[in-house]
Formats: sequence, structure tokens, C-alpha cells
Amino acid sequence: MTLGAALGAAASTVFDARSPMWVTGGLGTLALLSTGVWLIDGHRIRSLQRWLSGTMQLEPPKIAGPLGEVAYRIEKAVKARERAAEAERQSLEQFLAAIEVSPNGVLLLDDADQVQWFNRTAASHFGLDPSRDHRQRVTNLVRAPAFVAHLHAHDEKGDVVFLSPRGDATLSVLVRPYGKSMRLVLSQDITERERTDAMRRDFVANVSHEIRSPLTVLAGFVETLAELPLTVAEKERVLLLMRQQAHRMQALVSDLLALAQIEGAPRPPSDQWVDVAGLMQHLESDAMALDGSRHRLTFANDGVASIAGSDTELLSACWNLVSNALRYSPDGGHVHVAWSIRADGMSEFCVSDDGPGIAREHIPRLTERFYRVDGSRSRETGGTGLGLAIVKHVVQRHEGELLISSEPGQGSQFRVQLPKYRSRVVDEALAEDIAAAGG
Ligand code: ADP
Repeated sequence: MTLGAALGAAASTVFDARSPMWVTGGLGTLALLSTGVWLIDGHRIRSLQRWLSGTMQLEPPKIAGPLGEVAYRIEKAVKARERAAEAERQSLEQFLAAIEVSPNGVLLLDDADQVQWFNRTAASHFGLDPSRDHRQRVTNLVRAPAFVAHLHAHDEKGDVVFLSPRGDATLSVLVRPYGKSMRLVLSQDITERERTDAMRRDFVANVSHEIRSPLTVLAGFVETLAELPLTVAEKERVLLLMRQQAHRMQALVSDLLALAQIEGAPRPPSDQWVDVAGLMQHLESDAMALDGSRHRLTFANDGVASIAGSDTELLSACWNLVSNALRYSPDGGHVHVAWSIRADGMSEFCVSDDGPGIAREHIPRLTERFYRVDGSRSRETGGTGLGLAIVKHVVQRHEGELLISSEPGQGSQFRVQLPKYRSRVVDEALAEDIAAAGG
């Protein structure tokens, strides 16, 4: 007999009051009924058990009654918890992704200072390997004594600065407590900041030194004039020296201002054309005025009509190169100044001299502020040590390049190359002028 048929039979027997077998039949039927209920409940509990002990990915068993209600509530609670866990996982992923792209290094240590997690920047700062260095003690990986001491000192306020393990960066590192017993190591690459700080310090020291020397000389001469009875000739000599020192300071201040102006000015325009013939005339007359006829000077222009950019900046850069050639070449030398168009369409301004030349090791440093090969020669001739720094700046702002070639005893060549889109050749300029005039 199937369970359904037994239950059907039991029901008909219990409710058949006219039956003479009512009492005995009723007891038997009750026993049968409770066995049926027990069997059904057993079946329901087993399917609930199967569902609960499985992954619960499947739908809960379809059960009627209180057990069905229990299954429904369990399923609801589990789903709610799954949703919350998923939301937590997503926000953790987002958080880690954000830390991953941070320009600062983040490294998580457990209570035994073992590496739990680190982002890409920390890997690069500390030279860590994500596949090898997890769960390693951090002091076995980053051995810089300053870092190890800082970590052991549990200093939670200050930072520690040291050279990265690869030796290619200066790191500033903070260690902060995290959670119950973990610590966060936060690192920042301060190489560039250190470099600019050092440059600023050097610059201020250099400017102070450059100004202090002529000032000391001037102050000495003022004392001499005030305290010593000098002859007219002596006075004139002292005044001449004072004037020279004052000029030196003026030149320095005007070069400093020129540099500051160039650094603060907007990018030179690419649609304002500076007439090259006019520029060359300017250079020629200034060169003659400075030089007298100590050198043989030649000027040439092979087809460059105009350059797009700032006229004052271009004139200043060109003049610095021309005046250097005149100042550093001995009397009787030849200085040649020329504009030309290269095969690739770029324009080139070139100043060549047959002066003393420059040793190879100095060439890369010539454009540094206040760098001089021969300090006394530079000062004697009114140099400030800033001329080539100005040239380099102007050329970079015009997206060009400064090339220096020189051999000791063979003279020097300073070439400024400017991009094609800033260079207009004579024919182009002519054609555009005609078109503009409607011709
Ligand atoms: P300065 O005011 O001293 O001339 P610059 O920046 O113009 O400063 O030049 C830097 C240094 O480069 C000079 O001190 C000089 O030693 C060297 N120099 C520049 N131009 C020439 C040149 N044409 N021939 C030889 N040396 C040069």
C-alpha cells in the first residue's frame, strides 16, 4: 500500500461513524495516521537536511507546513547574508583598486611584521616581488638600517628618509598602526622634491655669492675713497673699478630677471612670426658695438624668413650665443653667425667660432646656472654664468633643441634647431604675403 492510499483509507475509516468496527478500526487508523505523518515529516526533514548540507545553491525543497516555513526563512537569511558579503567584497575590491593605483606605496604588516599585502607602488619602491614576498618578514626584504630602526622604534608620528633598496630613489616612509595589531607602511618617492630643494638651495647660495663678491669690492673702495687721501689718477682708477663691479651686479640682476620672466611667461605663440632679417640686423649691429673690430664677423641667412615665437626671447637667446663667441674667442678670430633650413624643414641658427674650444667633460654642464669652464675669464668679460641657461630655456619653450659641439683648440659650434611648424622659408612667406594681399 502506498502512503497516499494508507492515509486515504485511514481518513475514510475514522470518519465512518456507522461502522460497527468504529473503536478498534479507529485506534488502528490513528496508529496508521501517525505513522504516515511521521514518515512524511521524516521525508521532509531529510530533504531539508540534504539541502542544508549541500551548497544551498539549489532552490530549497518545496515542503508544506512549518518545516517549509523554516526552509523559506533560512533561504531568505542566507540570501541576505550573501548579498551583504557580495557588497562588502565589491567595496573592498574598489578600495584595493584605488590603493593599487595610488602614487604612494602601501604595505600591510601583521603583528610579526610579515608582509600581508602591498600595492604596485610599494613593490617598486621596496623592490618587492608579489609572487615571492608575501608572508616574508619585512626587515628581511627592506634592510635599510634607518627603516629597520624606525620600524622597531614604533615611531607613529615622524617619517624616515632613506635610499630605496635599488638605490634609484629617495623614499620618505611613515609607519602607522592599523586594526588591532597590524601596521601600515606608507612610502613616497621624494627624489624629485629633494632634487629641486637642493637646486633651490644651490641657486640661492650661488646668487648670494655672485652678489656678495662685487658688493665686498665696492664697499672696500668706498672705504678707500672716504679714508685715504688719493691722487686724481688713483681716484679715477678706483672709480673705474667700482663702475666695473656695479656693471657686474647690474648684468647679474638683469639675467636673473630675464630667467624669472622666461620661467613665468606663457608659452611662446606659434602664430606670431619674428622676422629673421630684422633679428640678424639687430644681432649684427650689437655685435659690432660690443666687438669693435677685434674679430672677423660674418652673417648669413640661407632661406629662413621668420620664426614663430617670442621676439624678445629669441633675440636674447641668439645674442647670448653671439656675445659668448665674441667674449671667449681671442682677438683676430672668426665668428660666423648663420640661419639655414635643414632638409627635414627645421630651421637652424648656428654660431661658430675658432676660439679656445671646450673640453668634452664640460659640455653637458654648460647650460646649468652659474656653471663656468673658466670663472675668471667669464667674469673678466662681464659673464654672469647664466647666458646658456637662458638659451636652453628659450629653446625648450620653442620646442627646439640646443646642440653644442666643441674641441679644445678647434673652436665651438652652438646650434639652435627649431621645429618645422615654427619655421617659415622665404618662398612660403612670400606666397603667404601675396595671398594675404589678395594677389
Ligand atoms: P657666461 O656668462 O660665463 O659666459 P654662459 O652660460 O653663457 O655663462 O656660458 C657658460 C660657460 O660656457 C662660460 O663660462 C664659458 O666657460 C663656456 N662658453 C660659452 N660659450 C663659449 C664659447 N663660444 N667658447 C668657449 N667657451 C664658451
